[in-house]
Amino acid sequence: MMNIPDSSNPRVVIIGGGFGGLSIAKQLKNRNFQVVLLDKHNYHNFQPLMYQVATGGLEAGTIAYPIRKVVQEHKETFFRMANVEKVDTFGKKVISDIGTIYYDYLVIATGSTNNYFGNKDIEKNSMVMKTIPEALDIRSLILENFELALQTNDEKVRRSLMNFVIVGAGPTGVELAGALAEMKKAVLPKDYPDLDLSMMEINLVQGTNRVLDAMSEKSSKAAAKYLKNLGVSIHLDVRVTNYDGNVVTTAGDLEFHSQAVIWSAGVKGAAVDGVNDAVDRASRIRVNDFNQVEGFEDVFAIGDVAAMYGEKFKFGHPMMAQPAIQQGELLAENLERLSKKQSLKKFVYNDKGSMATIGRNKAVVDLPKLHFNGVFAWFVWMFIHLISLIGFKNRMLVFWSWVYNYFVFDRESRIIVRPYRKKKGIEHGN
Ligand SMILES: Cc1cc2nc3c(=O)[nH]c(=O)nc-3n(C[C@H](O)[C@H](O)[C@H](O)COP(=O)(O)OP(=O)(O)OC[C@H]3O[C@@H](n4cnc5c(N)ncnc54)[C@H](O)[C@@H]3O)c2cc1C
Repeated sequence: MMNIPDSSNPRVVIIGGGFGGLSIAKQLKNRNFQVVLLDKHNYHNFQPLMYQVATGGLEAGTIAYPIRKVVQEHKETFFRMANVEKVDTFGKKVISDIGTIYYDYLVIATGSTNNYFGNKDIEKNSMVMKTIPEALDIRSLILENFELALQTNDEKVRRSLMNFVIVGAGPTGVELAGALAEMKKAVLPKDYPDLDLSMMEINLVQGTNRVLDAMSEKSSKAAAKYLKNLGVSIHLDVRVTNYDGNVVTTAGDLEFHSQAVIWSAGVKGAAVDGVNDAVDRASRIRVNDFNQVEGFEDVFAIGDVAAMYGEKFKFGHPMMAQPAIQQGELLAENLERLSKKQSLKKFVYNDKGSMATIGRNKAVVDLPKLHFNGVFAWFVWMFIHLISLIGFKNRMLVFWSWVYNYFVFDRESRIIVRPYRKKKGIEHGN
């Protein structure tokens, strides 16, 4: 049972405590609503720094923040850790694994999930990085592969264990490839002096003709140059067709023998069951300019899961933190207007730009009217990520880890806390 007390204020149920869900919950703090926030995890996950957890640069706790702590001073906000199974829009209720809750207004902020485009082999055998446990799985796999590489006398197996194939050269793939390349240069030679690290390969495979293809050409070119200088092999216009746990096959002749394939080639909306008529081909929920789900006045979707089609964004806004935050902020205001029977304000996205880092001292930044890269871009990248983290302590811990790692050329968290091997049925050599 959820055990939420009755209130004279209208009840807003928010599904998801990510960037969008927390943004609206914070804005509703001093308004006349009872807020019930549901999430399957009890923490907010700062996804932009997850690749650093996966490569041992940061501890998982530094990029996670307890949702209860965010809302603890909100008078009429209740958090419940619950996995929402479906919504019943006729009965105005949300059904979860811990019980049912009625709403006056419903906000779906469930984010996105991995898209394997229907390929079950890739889903079963590759690694993904959407959640903290998944990032920790990648960390374990990387380290376990090196341990195994030391134990085998079969060169083919050893090469396969040390061949990292990253599918998808968006920001996640590029940042991960850069971090792995830095590990190869500075950390692994110290940890594995008896292993021939020239055998280690980092292959970045991209289906289109450039890396970071959602960013400017200038940033894309700079990122490709940085990656090549770090020893990453970039394969453009290559479509991966399968991965059976041992061999990555592509639409062309290229194939990779690898025991470490990371899939960052696709995401889709994590729509909840119950608003199915409004779900588009990318599993996002179609909303109007006020984030109202198609066909409803009292059901809203924000963030990655929401598809607000417009002239500029034909398939909806980019799946990034800023649209989610900005939609959450405006929706809080619109809910108040709705409850007062006032007209609603249209959402207009304020594009603040995008950025990616490629290893030490290098980043690319696209602002609406300015593109730059190099060391200054790297400082900007660090600053923006630090101030975006929730919690002073997390900011301090991340800052300290970065300073330490920078000067000592280290990645502290090279620990296999939770072995990953064979969890997904991957064979790791002999
Ligand atoms: C590795 C990685 C790196 C990224 N880097 C960047 C970056 O550098 N810059 C940038 O702008 N964006 C980045 N993004 C994208 C950004 O994280 C998302 O766009 C943003 O998180 C979207 O916010 P959201 O609120 O829609 O969803 P999320 O923040 O994903 O939150 C969704 C929440 O819903 C919860 N949830 C989902 N389903 C259920 C359910 N059925 N029941 C209960 N709870 C549920 C989840 O637990 C989660 O807490 C990155 C994403 C990834 C994966």
